[in-house]
Parts: sequence; structure tokens; C-alpha cells
Amino acid sequence: MIRRILNKVFGRTSRASGSGAQILPLAAHGIRRDQLDDCALKTCETLAQAGYKGYVVGGAVRDLLLGKTPKDFDVATDATPEEVRRLFRRSRIIGRRFQIVHVMCGRVTIEVTTFRSNGQKEADEEDERSTDEHGRLLSDNVFGNMADDAARRDFTINALYYDPAREEVHDYFGGVADCKKRVLRMIGDPETRFREDPVRMLRAARFAAKLDFHIDPDTRRPVATLAPLLSNIPRARIFDEALKLLMSGHALRGVHQLRAEGLHHGMLPLLDTILDDPTGERFITAALKTTDARIAQDKPASPAFLFGTLLWPQVLQRWRALEAAGEKPQPALFLAMDEVLDAQRGQLAIPRRYDGMIKEIWALQPRFEQRGGQRPFRLLEHPRFRAAYDFLLLRAESGEVDAELGDWWTRFQDVDDEERAAMLKADSSPKPRRKRKRRKPGESAAETQPA
Ligand code: ATP
Ligand code: MG
Repeated sequence: MIRRILNKVFGRTSRASGSGAQILPLAAHGIRRDQLDDCALKTCETLAQAGYKGYVVGGAVRDLLLGKTPKDFDVATDATPEEVRRLFRRSRIIGRRFQIVHVMCGRVTIEVTTFRSNGQKEADEEDERSTDEHGRLLSDNVFGNMADDAARRDFTINALYYDPAREEVHDYFGGVADCKKRVLRMIGDPETRFREDPVRMLRAARFAAKLDFHIDPDTRRPVATLAPLLSNIPRARIFDEALKLLMSGHALRGVHQLRAEGLHHGMLPLLDTILDDPTGERFITAALKTTDARIAQDKPASPAFLFGTLLWPQVLQRWRALEAAGEKPQPALFLAMDEVLDAQRGQLAIPRRYDGMIKEIWALQPRFEQRGGQRPFRLLEHPRFRAAYDFLLLRAESGEVDAELGDWWTRFQDVDDEERAAMLKADSSPKPRRKRKRRKPGESAAETQPA
């Protein structure tokens, strides 16, 4: 009886798996099954009905514990990917070496992963090398039991398994307590785990920023020495992490956290030059703040826009240098844009699919200076006007251009045609005016060229 009461409050230890997981009841964690996404709940139920285990795991449990709304739900199971696929009509196996199953309900997709171990044991037994010379794991696609699965995860707060049927949390490494203490702690020996996968260092910085957690000193210690290992990671994976950090809703804190840990050399090396220059720092701070605010309001934030802002201080610098060397403004800008985009390929590897939009936003910037004649009207109709205008506001906010220019464009969009006509400025464009027939967009504003 007493044991039952104690279990109810403090939870019990899993004996079934013999693994020492604490099994915490609702009273100890507070996560009710109705807080789960329906699709995640249904996925776990279907697995259970078929005799398999099915737990919500990872970020979703952590976020619910912290009172945040999870952005997606992952499920872990002892069923193989093929068995999972057979259970759900709308599902498909993703990946070859490392198979996961996507289960779809409406527009929601649940990622179902089979319990895995980090492959160390098997490799040791077969006397094969499971890591490279820096300790990086070469294989992580070996099935295992639930305890193995928990041990291969990165941080204690990411190794929590929620059983919706019993509303219990299986906690292998004290993740619930760490959540309460707001501590980010690596599972196992931090140095070994960072060597196994150096991206975990970037994840540490991202989670610390996103959750406003403190990195446990033992976890943090090896990072300064191991940060250079990021150079062995494929650039595409680094780019994905950068995107997650910048789109986390806490980009500003994330970027500062990266720099404080010395990790930006391996991810966003351009931060050094940007943040050491006061205008650059103001510009990036404004850009990241706006992105964070948009994400907080559930508004879309565009990666191309964001990467455009990160690279802008370099573009500006090259643009000015080329102009000083005698190049005309427009060609100088285009040259600077190409140079900067090419130079980042080796470091940041922004995929080429973003190039088009980034360049359009940059190329429109000088056009905001032209406030006479038909030009402002044409710019207003440009499909990228909105993004380019938002970009201009950041430049104004950082003091790179006059605040008056940003204000002018804000007002120009707001007022009616008559007032717009009154706002037009004498055309200060240095271009010699060619005598040609003016193309009328069919509006009366065409007549209202100021003196
Ligand atoms: P987010 O809110 O950013 O999605 P998350 O914790 O769900 O956070 P994911 O990248 O979606 O992060 O990964 C899901 C889970 O997989 C993590 O919670 C963690 O348990 C495990 N995991 C992911 N990447 C790693 C890694 N590099 N090393 C160890 N475990 C990892
Ligand atoms: Mg996730």
C-alpha cells in the first residue's frame, strides 16, 4: 500500500527492462495524454494494439514538460520500420541506411523510429572500428532495446519517453529533474559523445538558447577544445543546423551563444567580422530580432531573407571597395553579390536554391534611393518589394541608411495616389536622362513629375 502511494508520487523503476529507468506518474510530470497531437496519440495506440511499444520521445516530451507547444512529435517503437509501415495505411519508409517511417494523418506527419543502439557494442565484439580517428561514430543504425535507445540520445532532457496509455514518463538519465533545474546535460561522457558526433556541440548551443537553459559545466568543458572537429562534418548538415538555430525563435540568443562557445568558426564564421563592426552588429541584431518576433507570432520567416541579412555586411563592404576602385554603383553591387555568395559556399554552403531570392532582395536596395518619377511606383509592384522593403528597414535601423528613407517608403505605401505624387522627390539619379517616350502604367501619377 505504502509502496503504491510512493510509486504514485515519485514513480517506480522499470523492472521489465532491467535498465533502471524511473517511471514517473502523471503527478510527477503533469503531461496529460490529451496534450498530445491526435496523430501521435493514434500512432502510439495502433502500435500498442498490435503488441508493440510506442512512446512519444525527444523534443515533444521535453517541450510539454516545459509548458511549451511542441513543434512536432516523434514516436519510438520496438517494431521494425517494415512492421510499422504495414500497420499504417498512410505511411512510408524514409531513408536507406537509417530508416524511419513517416506516418501521416491529414497534414500532420509523425516520425516513427525503431529503438536503436549506437552500434558500439556490436562493433567491439566484432573487433571492428566503430569510430574514426577523432572518435566520430561511423555506424548508428543498429537496432537495440529501449534502454540502448535512450543511451544513444544526446541530452538527458531529450531521452524522455512518454507512454500515453498510462500517462507515464520513462526517464533514464534524470531528464525530468534537469528540466526542472533548467540544465542541459550530456548523457554519458561529454567528450566521447561530442567526438562521436560533433554536431551535438551545435545542438547544445541551440537548445541552451532556445530553452534558456544553462549548460552543465562538465558538458560544456570539452567544447572549446573540440570545436574544430566541426570541420569534418558535411557542410549540408552544418547548414541544416544553422537553419534550425536561426529559425528556432531564439536566433539572437543562439548566435551569441555560438560565439560565446567559440562554435561559430565551424558554423557561421562570418559572425566575427559582422559582430565586431558596430553597424554590422546593429544590423544583424535587428534582423535576428525581427525573425524571432515573426516566429513568436507564427508568421512565416524566410531563410533566404535571413541568409541575405547575414551576408549583407560583406556585400556592403565589397560593394564600397569596388566603387572606391572606380566601378559604377550597379555593376559594383552585382560583382560584390556574386563574390560574397561564392565565397560562402566553402563555409556555410547556403544551397543554391536560395541564391535567386537573396540576390533579388540585395539588387533592389539601390532602387529605394530613387524616389522620383515612375520608379517608386514600379518598385512597389515588384514581386519582391515586401521582402526588399523589410530589408531596407533593417538597414535604416542599423544606421546604414538614413531613417528618413525607411520612413518615406513606409508612408509611400500607406497613402493614396494623390499624396504619393506629392511625396515624389526630384530625381537625383546620377544616370543621364535619355530622351525617350515615357512608358505610362496607365495611372494619373505619371503626370505628376515634380520639378
Ligand atoms: P527540436 O525541438 O529542435 O525538434 P528535438 O529534441 O526534437 O528538438 P530533433 O533533431 O528533432 O530534436 O531530434 C529528435 C531526438 O533525436 C532528440 O530529442 C534526441 O533524443 C535525438 N537526437 C537527434 N539528434 C541527435 C544527435 N546528433 N545525437 C544524439 N541524439 C540525437
Ligand atoms: Mg524534433
